[in-house]
Amino acid sequence: MEVITLNNGVEMPQLGFGVWQVPDGEAEKAVTTALETGYRSIDTAKLYYNEEGVGRAIRASGLPREELFVTTKLWNDEHEYDKALRAFDESMERLGLDVLDLYLIHWPVPSRGKYVDAWKALEKLYADGRVRAIGVSNFTIKTLQHLFEETGVVPAVNQIELHPQFPQKDLRDFHAEHGIATEAWSPLGQGQGLLDLPELAEIGAAHGKSPAQVVLRWHLQLGNVVIPKSVTPERIAENIDVFDFRLDDAEMAAIDALDNGRRLGPDPATFAWMG
Ligand code: NAD
Repeated sequence: MEVITLNNGVEMPQLGFGVWQVPDGEAEKAVTTALETGYRSIDTAKLYYNEEGVGRAIRASGLPREELFVTTKLWNDEHEYDKALRAFDESMERLGLDVLDLYLIHWPVPSRGKYVDAWKALEKLYADGRVRAIGVSNFTIKTLQHLFEETGVVPAVNQIELHPQFPQKDLRDFHAEHGIATEAWSPLGQGQGLLDLPELAEIGAAHGKSPAQVVLRWHLQLGNVVIPKSVTPERIAENIDVFDFRLDDAEMAAIDALDNGRRLGPDPATFAWMG
């Protein structure tokens, strides 16, 4: 498995397994399949309500803890310093872990104006050795700049909506300039529309690969961390089978050209849902 080195030296698998919208009862099975298939990084969140299922799969796998990379996220109504520290403990209890690999602020919710408090709590958890790396999700250039001005530690990761139809070039460039790893959520564009595009089928045919594999390869060559989600064993296997081919410059450019500027998810500048 390819890894990327975060700005504090911690290594993170470049491809992981996302579990949004997987109910707790199904998460154990899906994560078990993923771990058996070779995935070593799992992306969950408090709001996915499946941290317990993820934890059960991790324990049942028998894999050494140091081989796994587990991410979870702080929810929007817990940005206050003390609440954030408690929320972390509760997530860790559900996951059944002592140390987390990556903890993210799920959304900045700029209208609440509390994400700096939340970040200070994450810095404390990091300083105490409870988490190996801390980062953010859905932060914009503006919220990242504000965070830099107010605090000391540059986030290791910003997990953002990113796929060929919404490639976020400016934000990726900003991350590169500041040593922040770009992690793509909905890397397959949630499967709808994107994977049916004939351009992807054509590139895939040239390599004996599916459109999903072509899209994941595009991400990897850009340097993104990806966390595709599936509960179907064949697709779980397909999505990790992307390390034995390479897209050339013309193919990369053809995929870049699929940009239509449309988000699938909410706009982080205004999103303020509390769940
Ligand atoms: P995704 O882009 O990974 O797409 C998943 C969907 O694509 C599946 O439900 C399935 O319908 C289809 N699919 C998967 N593999 C396929 C294949 N090989 N061939 C054809 N179709 C396939 O979408 P996602 O689940 O939204 O995003 C991935 C992960 O990102 C989530 O599970 C979650 O962990 C994370 N995420 C984070 C945020 C955030 O705010 N931080 C938001 C959304 C998602």
